[in-house]
Amino acid sequence: MSGPQQITVLGATGSIGLSTLDVIARHPERYQVFALSGFTRLSELLALCIRHVPQFAVVPEVAAARGLQDDLRAAGLPTRVLVGEEGLCQVASAPEVDAVMAAIVGAAGLRPTLAAVQAGKKILLANKEALVMSGALFMQAVHKSGSVLLPIDSEHNAIFQCMPQDFSRGLGAVGVRRILLTASGGPFRQTPMSELAHVSPDQACAHPNWSMGRKISVDSASMMNKGLELIEACWLFDAKPSQVEVVIHPQSVIHSLVDYVDGSVLAQLGNPDMRTPIANALAWPERIDSGVAPLDLFAVARLDFEAPDEQRFPCLRLARQAAEAGNSAPAMLNAANEVAVAAFLDGRVGYLEIASIIEDVLNLEPVVALEDLDAVFTADAKARILAEQWLNRHGR
Ligand code: NDP
Ligand code: MG
Repeated sequence: MSGPQQITVLGATGSIGLSTLDVIARHPERYQVFALSGFTRLSELLALCIRHVPQFAVVPEVAAARGLQDDLRAAGLPTRVLVGEEGLCQVASAPEVDAVMAAIVGAAGLRPTLAAVQAGKKILLANKEALVMSGALFMQAVHKSGSVLLPIDSEHNAIFQCMPQDFSRGLGAVGVRRILLTASGGPFRQTPMSELAHVSPDQACAHPNWSMGRKISVDSASMMNKGLELIEACWLFDAKPSQVEVVIHPQSVIHSLVDYVDGSVLAQLGNPDMRTPIANALAWPERIDSGVAPLDLFAVARLDFEAPDEQRFPCLRLARQAAEAGNSAPAMLNAANEVAVAAFLDGRVGYLEIASIIEDVLNLEPVVALEDLDAVFTADAKARILAEQWLNRHGR
């Protein structure tokens, strides 16, 4: 081996970013941090730079960059600070880099992630929104550059582990009948429907099994997260939406399953800790210690399953419809959801209005083909404007 692999962590200050750095720090002989990015949590970014001594750090704007550069110099570090999307794309595609952890949340991660894909890097994909928005173009770019795309989302990483290595030949060709995508059901699985109108952002973010950033936590509560994951699974495994079934499994111990034509069903199990899929993708096809405790099946004791209720979780229905419509529908769904979730977290709308906003946006705008990246961002921008108009119309 020619020295440690150089890793760029986009979204280093977030939940996935920190878990990634925890795994990396356990294996200094294998991995070295090349670059880290942050957005608002810049004192945390400074602390991460002091700990991991990257060559580059990326922040959103010039004034913040100056401040961080001064602090880094004062700490005697050689780290250079870059700015904005251009800086993110630069550290994602730099020739020295072996792998990029794409862990920026939302549409903001698309361009840097694609820059890493186009440069042929190994991509550790947590930023599902990037793939949901630009699915066909993203996968074309992966095939063209020969980039290795490894899913970090726990469900997709589980599916990846349960698939035969040659699954890219097509699910039918490798004997796969269905993908069973598990979901915890989130904090509102059993909340009386009459109370849902009044649940708070903090209640929505109190996930029973996983500790995550606030946007994905709200998505998990509404099950839009599972909807985005359904679309993500279709692109990663070349599946039709009808081949992906969502199964509620409240314990979050089985991370997903693959159903084969001979009746075999393979599952991946583990404690709900993102360091497992992160370590799996970092070391693939080898295995390394992730710091995650061994699964204690006696403590788990039982595994339950139930069908999702689309009355309770309308976002799941909307996402399935968008998956079936294809083209611009998933990008519009994602953008409307980002605006609606931000408005919910800001206290501008109630929880139930998240689905109303998304449904109205999708009904207002016809589905169009997405020929190129500009068309993706146009669809994204249109959906954001329509969602903002919804907020204005309703006096929010
Ligand atoms: P967090 O909110 O914890 O972290 C998001 C990261 O993105 C932070 O580093 C944040 O910087 C940065 N960021 C936010 N907005 C921007 C922007 N506009 N431009 C550049 N950087 C930005 O989210 P998570 O870590 O929970 O999730 C990250 C991604 O991983 C999401 O796409 C999510 O769906 C996916 N994922 C997460 C899982 C989890 O367990 N957390 C599980 C599966 C998938 P800062 O904090 O400095 O503001
Ligand atoms: Mg997931």
